[in-house]
Amino acid sequence: MKFLDTTLRDGEQTPGVSLVPENKLRIAQRLDELGVDIIEVGFAAVSEGEMEAVSLISKQGLKAQISSAARGTINDIDAVLKSGASTISMIIPTSDLHIECKLRKTREQILKATDECIEYAKDHGLIVELLAEDATRSDFDYLTKVFLTAIGAGVDRVIPCDTVGILTPERSAEFFSRLTETLKFPVGVHCHNDFGMAVANTVAALGAGAEEAHVTINGLGERAGNASLEEVVITLKSLYKLDLKIKTEMLYSTSQLVSRLTGVYVQPNKAIVGENAFTHESGIHTQGMLANPLCYEPIAPELVGATRRIAPGKHSGTHGIRAALEKMGLQPKEDQLKEIFLRVKSLGDKGKTVMDADVLAIAENIMGLGQDKPIKLEEMTFVGGDKITATSSVRLSLNGKVCWGAAVGVGPVDAAINAVKDAIAEVVPITLEHYMVKAVTGGTDAMVEVVVRMRKGDRTTTAMSVREDIVKASMEAVISAMNVLTTDYNKNKQ
Ligand code: MN
Repeated sequence: MKFLDTTLRDGEQTPGVSLVPENKLRIAQRLDELGVDIIEVGFAAVSEGEMEAVSLISKQGLKAQISSAARGTINDIDAVLKSGASTISMIIPTSDLHIECKLRKTREQILKATDECIEYAKDHGLIVELLAEDATRSDFDYLTKVFLTAIGAGVDRVIPCDTVGILTPERSAEFFSRLTETLKFPVGVHCHNDFGMAVANTVAALGAGAEEAHVTINGLGERAGNASLEEVVITLKSLYKLDLKIKTEMLYSTSQLVSRLTGVYVQPNKAIVGENAFTHESGIHTQGMLANPLCYEPIAPELVGATRRIAPGKHSGTHGIRAALEKMGLQPKEDQLKEIFLRVKSLGDKGKTVMDADVLAIAENIMGLGQDKPIKLEEMTFVGGDKITATSSVRLSLNGKVCWGAAVGVGPVDAAINAVKDAIAEVVPITLEHYMVKAVTGGTDAMVEVVVRMRKGDRTTTAMSVREDIVKASMEAVISAMNVLTTDYNKNKQ
């Protein structure tokens, strides 16, 4: 079974997304390492930037085949040849709607163009995939005729596209069985998610004889997107027990990289790679989870390179809170634990998102501990402006010892956080995994809320701060999370 990733072509057609060639290259390198067979990296004929991106990636000597999309015209094929891509994804519409309304052509003209274009591309040494656009709304006999013409002209793979996502799993299975039986030739599947069934339809097609799946990271793509790579891959691996060569432990970090570079957030409840996919809050679930993760996790987070998190909140039970505190070396007595538990619940009842840092603060208060935080911000400077690199320096005290740090960044927040990391880098290797900011009130003097998630080894923690100044709020949240991660009462006892 083959995977063609089209994050950089169909995925880039997501409204509002546009990637510069260097960022396309970073994503392509990651996809190659992940183990996809073909990477569709762009549309060479579209713009100079696209041509540059396709050429740049084609030159890297990646293991995956590099493909560029093209319409069925000699001009577009020439652009692919010029780019140096080894493979062409030739898009030719097959539904009467597209042929007549969009192209203002006849079925016969399309057949002729298919034959000529494929022959031309093959003569010039390209690997050719034919993507039949709107195939699932095309007359089946005509679609078969186009594919047989393409096969006659030497095409390598044919892919009927469910361009507007109208298949259902049953129709997909039926369609692909019929098509593969008729053609007896390698067929791929390309599904869109307009009804939320792209993954289900893709899986059904693979079960009915399709050999190659077109997918995108995070399900990016036009309108509601394409079939998501991570969901198709994990479904096949976990539910169908297929042996795939995709390095699944890279899925979470790849999803994060694509989200960062495209600026498209992954919804928290997204399957496989969403922030909440391995997070447990409710007491009943946490208790079961701690006894055996299989109780409430169909797959282990390690399979996709994510981490399990137990989030404190109003649904928490004492088990979850005890487990979280034990990680920090705190062993509250029964009555103390009960009091901590009640306070966490009352915070949640007030509608507040409870952070790990809040749980620690409550526990310390009730147990009469830790007035002194390990990390304290003593001083911070910041310079920035138009045509001046954002630069920050900080003085921290780390367990009473003074540390200095200085760094530059893309803006004030980035520079300040980098300076803090610089100050503590040698002592405590902590990474910022997730940073989110939102304005709580309107206007330029709005209160901003910064939420961070940070990691030290296999421990992650969350913290939040609300301030009028975004740099101060960010620093406060980061330092508060760092304090949770460096708090270890076991160590202090020794
Ligand atoms: Mn598409």
